[in-house]
Amino acid sequence: MQQDQNQQAGIYFHIPFCVKKCPYCDFYSITNLALKKAFLKALMREMRMLCNISFVFDTIYIGGGTPSVLTAEDIAKIIETTRQLFKISADVEITLEVNPGAVDQERFAGYKSAGVNRINIGAQSFQETNLAFLGRIHSGKDINSAVKLARKAGFDNMGLDLIYGIPGQTRKSWLLDLQKAVDLKPEHLSCYMLTYEPGTPMHKDRQEARFYPLHDNLVSDMFESTIEFLNANNYVQYEISNFALVNSDKRADKRDNMSRHNRKYWLSVPYIGLGPSAHSFVEPVRYWNTRSVIKYIKDVNGGRLPLEGKEVLSREQHMIEAISLGLRMTDGIKTDVFDKKFDVSFNKIFAETIASLEKDGLIRAAENRCLLTRKGMLFADSITSMLI
Ligand code: SF4
Repeated sequence: MQQDQNQQAGIYFHIPFCVKKCPYCDFYSITNLALKKAFLKALMREMRMLCNISFVFDTIYIGGGTPSVLTAEDIAKIIETTRQLFKISADVEITLEVNPGAVDQERFAGYKSAGVNRINIGAQSFQETNLAFLGRIHSGKDINSAVKLARKAGFDNMGLDLIYGIPGQTRKSWLLDLQKAVDLKPEHLSCYMLTYEPGTPMHKDRQEARFYPLHDNLVSDMFESTIEFLNANNYVQYEISNFALVNSDKRADKRDNMSRHNRKYWLSVPYIGLGPSAHSFVEPVRYWNTRSVIKYIKDVNGGRLPLEGKEVLSREQHMIEAISLGLRMTDGIKTDVFDKKFDVSFNKIFAETIASLEKDGLIRAAENRCLLTRKGMLFADSITSMLI
C-alpha cells in the first residue's frame, strides 16, 4: 500500500443498526439491536488490528445505519480508542450522524463531551406525508427539536440531509422544505434526489406500479430551484448535492462549513473504513469489509480482518474515477493536476468531446479546469460516460 505521510486521511465508522429499515435505503444495517455490545467489542478489536497505519487523520466520521442508537458512552469509547491508537490532528473534524427520531438532550450533551464537533441530522423532509412515504420514524417537529437540542448542547457545526423528488411532492412543497431548513440556519445542507436502488422495497413497489415516480422534468426543475433558492439564502454549492453556509468574515476560525470528511471521497484522499460494509481507499487500493454484522464479529474475534473484497485500481480506472468524482465538484477537474498525475494532456485527449459538450452548454473548460454547468449537472452520469 502506498502511503504519503503528509496526507491528512479520514476514518469512517459504520454503525450497522437502525430502529427501523427505511424502504428506499440500501445502506447496510440491521434492526436487531441485541448485537450492539458484541459489535462494539469487535469494532475496538478491528481498530487495534489497524493501528499500525501511519497516516495522520484529520476527520472522523461516525455514520451508518443510525449511530445515534449508541449511547454517549459508546461514542466516547469509540473516539477515545481512536485517539489512543491512531495519530489524530489537533483540529480534527468529528462528525456524528443522528436520526431526529433517536436523540434527546442528554445524548447530545454526552456526544459533545465525547468530542463530537459536527452533527449531521437525517432530516429528509419536514412534511409528514413525505416522511411517511420514506418510512421514517421521525416527524417534522422532531427535526426542529433535534436542531434546538444540538445547538443547546453547544454544536456550532451542523448539517441537515434532505430528499427531493418524492412522489406527490411539488416544486412548491419542496421549496417549503428548503425554507424550513434554512430557517434553522444549519452550516451545511445536503439535498439528495430520491433514487430507487435495486433490491430495496421501494424499488420493488415502483416496479409493481404501487406508486409512480415524479416526472424527470419536475425533478430537474426541483434540482435547479434548489441551487437558486440556496444561493439566494447564502449557501454555496460545492458538490452536486452539497451546500455550505457562507460564513460571515467575523468568524475567527474561518471555517468554510464544507464537510471536510466527504470531500476526501471526491478528491481521492485516503480514508479507512471500519465496521460492516465500510469501504477504504488508499491509492491505488480500494477494499471493503463484509456486510454481515455476524460475520464481521466472527472474523474480528477470530483475529482476521473482516475483508470481503479488494480492488487495485489500474491507471485507467484511476483516471476514470478522477473524472467522475472531479465533475461532481463545482470546482471541477483541475486539469493541470490531472495532467501531472497521469502524465497526459486532459485537454488534448478529450478535445473533441469537450468542444461538443461546451457547444451544448453542458461543460465549461476554464483555465486549468473542466467543470459542469448547472444544466450539465443534471446529466452528470451520462457526461462522465462520454469522457471515459
Ligand atoms: S435510518 Fe438511515 S440508514 Fe437506517 S434505514 Fe433509514 S435511511 Fe437507512
